[in-house]
Amino acid sequence: MREENCIFCKILSGDIPSTTVYEDESFQAILDVNPAARGHVIILPKNHAPDIFGLPDEDASKIMIVAKKIASALKATYHCDGINILQNNGEAAGQTVFHLHVHVIPRFEGDTVDIGWAKGDMPEDPAAIAEEIKANL
Ligand code: 5GP
Ligand code: ZN
Repeated sequence: MREENCIFCKILSGDIPSTTVYEDESFQAILDVNPAARGHVIILPKNHAPDIFGLPDEDASKIMIVAKKIASALKATYHCDGINILQNNGEAAGQTVFHLHVHVIPRFEGDTVDIGWAKGDMPEDPAAIAEEIKANL
């Protein structure tokens, strides 16, 4: 299933060039064109889903296995100190391409990659927060 105006669907169909590091029946993993670090890979489901909410459970369950495979290869290749595996949903969360993808980014002590947030204080009512979330599970 492809979406007409989706840049990643065009990559998956070969209409836009990319550099593939891994492919199976459900996913293609390519080098990010504006990498945060050497070896920054993005994993694309072959069936278009705009974000996590549209991703079928089967792809959701398999994509982390692919991320693990890529992360292991990056660790073996670059001997990095760490790896970020991340996935953005919605503009507010930094998503810029609305075809779900998982980033796998090699990290080194003292590198300049900027992923993080200012840590807030422990909430006074964690049980209430858990209850409000659980009501929608
Ligand atoms: P997002 O911000 O949506 O989580 O990540 C989108 C990612 O896709 C960015 O890191 C961006 O560099 C990458 N990207 C955008 N367009 C292309 C493209 O045409 N080819 C490749 N390989 N990566 C792309
Ligand atoms: Zn798409």
